[in-house]
Amino acid sequence: MVLWSVASSATSAFTGQNMCSSNHAKRSLLIATFTLAVAPASTFAFALPGPTACLLVDVADLHTLPDGSLTDSGSEADQQAYVQLARDARARIEDTFGAVESKPILVFFNHPDGFGPFRLNAYGSTQFIGSRACVMVGPKGQSVDVVAHELMHAEIHHRVGYLKRFLQLPTWFDEGVAMQVDYRTRYSLSPQDSQTADYVRDLTTFSSFFKGDEQAVVRNYASAKQVVASWLSKVGTTSLYARLQRLKNGESFDEIVTE
Ligand SMILES: [Zn+2]
Repeated sequence: MVLWSVASSATSAFTGQNMCSSNHAKRSLLIATFTLAVAPASTFAFALPGPTACLLVDVADLHTLPDGSLTDSGSEADQQAYVQLARDARARIEDTFGAVESKPILVFFNHPDGFGPFRLNAYGSTQFIGSRACVMVGPKGQSVDVVAHELMHAEIHHRVGYLKRFLQLPTWFDEGVAMQVDYRTRYSLSPQDSQTADYVRDLTTFSSFFKGDEQAVVRNYASAKQVVASWLSKVGTTSLYARLQRLKNGESFDEIVTE
């Protein structure tokens, strides 16, 4: 099998203690890489993590839907629902920020643990391997909120580029932008917490943003959502893509967020 040495990163719509972190994903990828180096693809005997799923999704036994999405469900009702969900989620992004350009591999799976040998977040997660992006939506994430949130991460990745996003885009900003198309009420701040949301700007790394218990992480999401919404109300939602392009072109994060 092929040896992969490309770093990966993951992001997830679900908040929780057991979600992937970038470091964890990298470690897992190394383990998976080793595994793949010694075992043929047909003999997976144990769970493989998300980045590997993104690499090997093409060889997984999945159904292809009319819009190119993939699913493990053979049910026609499920398949129609997934196509509609993807359409609604993209429409929400377009209504908020403008046209969707990214074309991530979009997978809807029904089993809470993932599909095939791949173990995935039951809500949703987005895996990036270089320019390749995979949005994996699980049975708990089959809502426009979760799908739009994850597709927005893929759009940011597409606009900024893998390395720039990984190295220069603060996690609070990445999550805060994705939250603009995610209307789940649990991510709304109480009036009291609204006063102190700015703390989230210090959570620039994946590990700092997702540190703490579920309540803490939910608050981070909600704070990021508010801080980014406040910024967008000044600079305009339709300026986002151009700003991300500037980051890709070499400007710093501080420069591209200047009001
Ligand atoms: Zn996210």
